[in-house]
Amino acid sequence: LTQLFRPLDMLGTVYRTIRQGLTDMDEMFRLLDTPAEVTDVPNAPPLHVELGHVRFENVRFGYEEGREILKGLTLDVPAGQTVAVVGPSGAGKSTLARLLFRFYDPKAGRITIDGQDIAQVRQASLRAAIGIVPQDTVLFNDTLGYNIAYGRDEASAAEVAAAASGAALDGFVRALPDGFEARVGERGLKLSGGEKQRVAIARTLVKNPPILILDEATSALDSRTEEAILDTLRGVSNGRTTITIAHRLSTVVDADRIVVLDGGRVAEEGSHAELLRRNGLYADMWARQQAESEQAEAAE
Ligand code: ATP
Repeated sequence: LTQLFRPLDMLGTVYRTIRQGLTDMDEMFRLLDTPAEVTDVPNAPPLHVELGHVRFENVRFGYEEGREILKGLTLDVPAGQTVAVVGPSGAGKSTLARLLFRFYDPKAGRITIDGQDIAQVRQASLRAAIGIVPQDTVLFNDTLGYNIAYGRDEASAAEVAAAASGAALDGFVRALPDGFEARVGERGLKLSGGEKQRVAIARTLVKNPPILILDEATSALDSRTEEAILDTLRGVSNGRTTITIAHRLSTVVDADRIVVLDGGRVAEEGSHAELLRRNGLYADMWARQQAESEQAEAAE
């Protein structure tokens, strides 16, 4: 009988792993782009997150032979702290997030959470510990409540309501005749970019993970919405280890620690003011962005 049940049990595990993974995978990464090359080692124990200390140790990685993207990256994110990662387009910022979520394994070096190599622990437990607020959120053709609870079916109505309030969506929900029962997605209510992002934030709050990856939207929201969302995100990241991937510098000015990725390594790090004083890559990127926004303003 055990012989019969083992495969069934494995299927269940595979199914749960896929479902769990899909919560975030669907959103941040295009599923078809993501090869299923990463599997659990036999008898992998679950990840045990005590504090949420994340460390990249000398990580080397490339998607293809002969083209290395990360060339010995070392990055330490102490438990509960927030680090903003910036760098030129294509520097590998999103790649870093994909490695932490273990869509790929480093070719050399390792990534640890509270000292445990993430390649050695059960994937489902790793993914349960990490929340991703992606650039673009996919909404399902279902109710708003379903979309918020997605990934944790057992979430109660009270938990969904609390998450909506933490994501500053409560006013929006109150104004809907059907509230959380309102249908959204392609065949329902169309949400704005900012509202969709708030749904993603609420989803993450329902999941309540100790570690967060925030992948900021590349396309600009209007600056008031952006400021409001950044404010909400600051609240959400409070007390959680957070890696913010910033594709624009304007959003990281207030971050305590900014890490500049270039040439596959950490090129510089510090606060905005410290990095400006260094007069290096960050200062260059900042000057360029300032000039661009001034030009855009002049053109208006
Ligand atoms: P941006 O700020 O423009 O989003 P990024 O720093 O997040 O850039 P990544 O998305 O991490 O950059 O990509 C780093 C490099 O890896 C890029 O040169 C990209 O072309 C390459 N790359 C990304 N995904 C894949 C993939 N699935 N297969 C092959 N190459 C990839």
